[in-house]
Amino acid sequence: MIEERIKQTIRDIYDFPKPGIIFKDISTIFLDAALCKSIVKSFVDKIRHLEPDAIVGLESRGFLLGPSIAMELGIPFVLIRKEGKLPGKCIHETYDLEYGTATIEIQENALASGKKVIIHDDLLATGGTVLAASNLLHKLNIEVVGYAFIIELSALLGRAKLEENKTPVISLASYT
Ligand code: IMP
Repeated sequence: MIEERIKQTIRDIYDFPKPGIIFKDISTIFLDAALCKSIVKSFVDKIRHLEPDAIVGLESRGFLLGPSIAMELGIPFVLIRKEGKLPGKCIHETYDLEYGTATIEIQENALASGKKVIIHDDLLATGGTVLAASNLLHKLNIEVVGYAFIIELSALLGRAKLEENKTPVISLASYT
């Protein structure tokens, strides 16, 4: 089962990026090409029926598999990046972090108004990052028809926030 294979492969790194945090290190997934293929296939099987026009990936680990998922579906891949990284005119959204704020951006002409997208990132924790991405896309009149994560930390209750407006949340491996 894909969930077990993911859980056997990723590593817990203690005290990263600061003391007391247990970081799920997904980089080991990319050492296993067969597992990467299976993960992409799982995503494609779970999201095809939502008929997205594009996959939107979040910097930076949403860029690792997002393009492969989009290619398999034959649709564009669009980048949301941290402030100051994208050329040309951008729309931005600022959101709260535990300490301070962060700003993310998308190119103004990346997607036409009215398109439907799936937002993809490696991991769902509190949901703050992906909600900011969703708000950013709404500014461009883009509809978010689903969220797709490799990992979900369910104790942090991000899913409930994302499902408030009935948008499907897909995660392949969940930790309580
Ligand atoms: P959230 O905004 O609290 O849902 O945090 C999710 C964001 O933080 C994603 O962009 C993740 O890449 C990153 N993140 C948080 N915790 C971890 C972790 O344990 N491993 C990998 N990424 C993490």
